[in-house]
Amino acid sequence: MTSLPTLPMLAPRRGKPPRHFADLDQVERVDALKQLGQPGFRAKQLATHYYDHLTVDPADMTDLPAAARDTLVGELFPPLLTHVTQLTADDGATVKTLWNLIDNAKVESVLMKYPDRATLCVTSQAGCGMACPFCATGQMGLTRNLSAGEIVEQVRLAAKQARDGELGGDPVRLSNVVFMGMGEPLANYAAVITAVRALTSPAPEGFGMSARHVTVSTVGLVTGIDRLASEGIPVTLALSLHAPDDELRDTLVPINARWKVDEALDAARRYFDATGRRVSIEYALIRDINDHAHRAELLAKKLNARGDGWVHVNPIPLNPTPGSKWTASDPKVEQEFVRILRMHGIPTTIRDTRGSDIDGACGQLAIKER
Ligand code: SAH
Repeated sequence: MTSLPTLPMLAPRRGKPPRHFADLDQVERVDALKQLGQPGFRAKQLATHYYDHLTVDPADMTDLPAAARDTLVGELFPPLLTHVTQLTADDGATVKTLWNLIDNAKVESVLMKYPDRATLCVTSQAGCGMACPFCATGQMGLTRNLSAGEIVEQVRLAAKQARDGELGGDPVRLSNVVFMGMGEPLANYAAVITAVRALTSPAPEGFGMSARHVTVSTVGLVTGIDRLASEGIPVTLALSLHAPDDELRDTLVPINARWKVDEALDAARRYFDATGRRVSIEYALIRDINDHAHRAELLAKKLNARGDGWVHVNPIPLNPTPGSKWTASDPKVEQEFVRILRMHGIPTTIRDTRGSDIDGACGQLAIKER
């Protein structure tokens, strides 16, 4: 093995994850390789191994000089996630993984196989600062932002697991990624957009996923929504609304104190105008809290006031979190809520709640050991 200098740029930063290939853009990769005494074209070889073959094993990198492989992998693909536990549900079709990060922060991701697709729910922050009272992660507070590498590694490892037949049997291609794990993705914008680029860039520079199959879900950080709209990557936007009126939303989604319902909906509409991508409105149905017929009416009115064909609503039965005084709406009330929206021409589909028995469903991701 050749001995190479330790590079300041690649050295671990205290309390932060070390730099990873997936954090770097093209120019930075070529620079890093030059500093390691390697030609710039190795960036493409490494990208092919990582994004296309899903490997960081030096033994797989037979197109690289044997003497340099260990060093290149050590410098550019430091291990960021260590597997702690894995729980399965739905006959192996849902897998929740608990990861340990370099500073011992713990995060979770959930992989779900459907007849027509496989979806990974990724975490963008350790904890979350948004403090929504019905959400398990919201109760933890924010520990820190994940790096792009830490987000992309969740995807690579899940894609590899699915490809290798570890998701209920046959090999499966990971087709969808939703930023609906722990954290508020638009509060960690730089890392999230770097990860989104890695997801949607064609191989070998990325995983080559379709932008429409990547969903960024937000509490409604308006400046972040507008910025995302300007990136030229038409990912699907999900807005976690949960109430059509400010009085209630102020209590369910505390950031509503900063950006009101109408401002969040206007930003969502601008997102549609910029990308042509129909926006999803997320609405956790909480018994006797936000599931009233008059709220369904008001929601439909506010959505229709902003035009036709730009939005659909995804009601989600609340997954009660430990100690929560709230529970899911009565199924009849849920049906009535859906009926009213549809009657007003709003496409509406109830979100299925996979993995609730392994605390892997929406809003349940929190680390029990804490
Ligand atoms: N911070 C982002 C993404 C993470 S949560 C956001 O809020 O959109 C992904 C979705 O799960 C959001 O719509 C969130 O409001 C919802 N959710 C949170 N807790 C839930 C719960 N207990 N039951 C059902 N959905 C929940």
